[in-house]
Amino acid sequence: MNIILFGPPGAGKGTQGDYLVKDFNLFKISTGDLLRKEIDNKTSLGNEIKSIIERGSLVSDNITNRLIENVLSDKKYYNRLIFDGYPRTINQTKKLDEMISKYDQKISCVLSLKVDQEIVTKRILGRQICSKCGLIFNKFFNPPKVVENKCEHDLTTRSDDNVDIIKKRFKTYHQETLPILSYYQKQNLLHEIDGMKEIGIIYKEIGGIIKGLDT
Ligand code: AMP
Repeated sequence: MNIILFGPPGAGKGTQGDYLVKDFNLFKISTGDLLRKEIDNKTSLGNEIKSIIERGSLVSDNITNRLIENVLSDKKYYNRLIFDGYPRTINQTKKLDEMISKYDQKISCVLSLKVDQEIVTKRILGRQICSKCGLIFNKFFNPPKVVENKCEHDLTTRSDDNVDIIKKRFKTYHQETLPILSYYQKQNLLHEIDGMKEIGIIYKEIGGIIKGLDT
C-alpha cells in the first residue's frame, strides 16, 4: 500500500507519518526533507531551492517529480511508501498517477488532516526536529522524552518556520494544493480527519482506516 498524507503546513503529516512507519513497516518520503537535504549539500540547485522555500513558494514540479521518481522506481520501497508533502499541485498529482502505473503500484488512500490555521501557526512555531534521527517534536505540545529512538536528540528548527513565511505557505496551500482534494475524492480515496485532536487520538483514527483498507 502507498499512502498520501495531505494537509496544510503544520497539520501533523510528518508526525503521523513517523508513527505509521513504525507500526506498518512503511517508508516515509517527505519532499520537504529531500529538498532540505539538497540545500544542506550547498549545491547551486540547493541555493535556488533555499530561496524558493524561504519565500513560502513551491519548488518546480520537475524537481519534485524527479525526486519522487527516484524513490518510486526503487524496488526496496515497492508499494510501501507514505507520501508527506507530495503531491502539492494538480500537475504533480497527475504525474504521480502516471508514475504509480508505470511502476505497477497503487495508492491505497489519501488521509487529509483538517486544522485551524491560527492554532496550527503556534504548532509550527514550536516545531523542533532532531538533526540526528529526524524525528519531529513540538516544544509546546509534544516535547521529546529523555531518550527515544535510541537517540540523544539534537533539536533544530526550520528556517521557514516563522510567522511571515507561514502566512505565505498557507496562501500557497490554498491556491495550489487544496484543489487536489476533489481529484482524490472523485477516485474515492479520500479520508478526512480532524487534525486538531490530540496526536494519539488522531493516530488511532488513522491506524483504524489503514487496517481496514483492502490493500
Ligand atoms: P514541507 O517540509 O512539506 O513543509 O515543505 C517545505 C517547503 O518545501 C515547502 O514550503 C515548499 O517550498 C517545498 N516543497 C515541499 N514539497 C514540495 C512539493 N511537493 N512541491 C513543491 N514544493 C515543495
